[in-house]
Amino acid sequence: SPAYIRALSAYQPGKPITQLSRELGIPVDNIIKLASNENPLGMSPKARAAVERELGTLERYPDDFELKSALAERHGLPRECIVLGNGSNDVLDLLARVFLAPGTSAVFSQHAFAVYPLASRSAGAELIAVPARDFGHDLDAMLAAIRPDTRVVWIANPNNPTGTFLAADELVGFLEKVPANVAVVIDEAYNDYLPPAERIDSTAWLARFPNLVVCRTFSKIYGLAGLRIGYGLADAGVADLMNRVRQPFNCNNLALAAAVAALGDDEFLAKSYAVNVAGIEQISAGLTRLGRRFIPAHGNFITFHVGDAAAVNERLLRQGVIVRPIAGYGMPEWLRVTIGLERDNARFLEALAQALS
Ligand code: PMP
Repeated sequence: SPAYIRALSAYQPGKPITQLSRELGIPVDNIIKLASNENPLGMSPKARAAVERELGTLERYPDDFELKSALAERHGLPRECIVLGNGSNDVLDLLARVFLAPGTSAVFSQHAFAVYPLASRSAGAELIAVPARDFGHDLDAMLAAIRPDTRVVWIANPNNPTGTFLAADELVGFLEKVPANVAVVIDEAYNDYLPPAERIDSTAWLARFPNLVVCRTFSKIYGLAGLRIGYGLADAGVADLMNRVRQPFNCNNLALAAAVAALGDDEFLAKSYAVNVAGIEQISAGLTRLGRRFIPAHGNFITFHVGDAAAVNERLLRQGVIVRPIAGYGMPEWLRVTIGLERDNARFLEALAQALS
């Protein structure tokens, strides 16, 4: 195996509820997991019904026609511009395989989503980590970091795990300056949690910037993380390259059907958004009461300062509360909590007060 593969470390997911239950002997029902930015409302009822209907088709290979048509209509793009992924992580990986190789480099921001370095290094590329500005992407510094061998710039907007956000005009200004042979990937996993007026329709920029790729997921506000489905929107030529390296049938029948139904479930989306807004207020107020510093949230999670995060995390786990340590993101003094239902948020705040006392 090449040295760049042996140098990788595997992605560390949030601790599963069943694992904490086994480790500490806490009943599963007494554990709350606010660690993986999942939708606390579950999945949309329409998506659930679609999954149940689809159970009758599992002897057949998947057909992605309907979902691609629905996405083409939603984004006003031809079907040729859409690439489906087994989660948007799969799309990120396809991009790394299409554009990166040993001898190339990829630019990303310090404290940005962990799959960017992972996918880049897996492809043998060199990684250029650019220091963050106010925990977010410093686009001027990222532009300056681009080298002749750079082929990809990764941008998460909003970013995970810091929750920071870049406005549309900043991104367009950046796209105008990036060389045309560098792909700019804007990962919008949390776009739907922005207030409607701030939500970005970056797909409208694709015609002007054929080096732009936009990634979206059904794992967050659509509540389908366990089904693994996301997509990329790109220039048709780029999408064609991605489809050449994509595994046939990378998205399964249940995921495809659920995604089509979830796309049309406006009621569930509105409810998910409202629960998140209320939860952000609740947790922000609670953190303020506890004298904790936190980064203003633009997604479905809040990242807050505790000092000895490993110790505080351990005390939360003992109380059956799973949040996410982010030392792996270069933030060893911070924890990230996903917005939950009101009672879960309250329980988290009580447990945190205990853990800090
Ligand atoms: N991008 C960002 C910024 C994320 O936080 C996540 C989920 N943690 C993903 C992509 C991947 O989501 P999925 O593979 O479930 O679509």
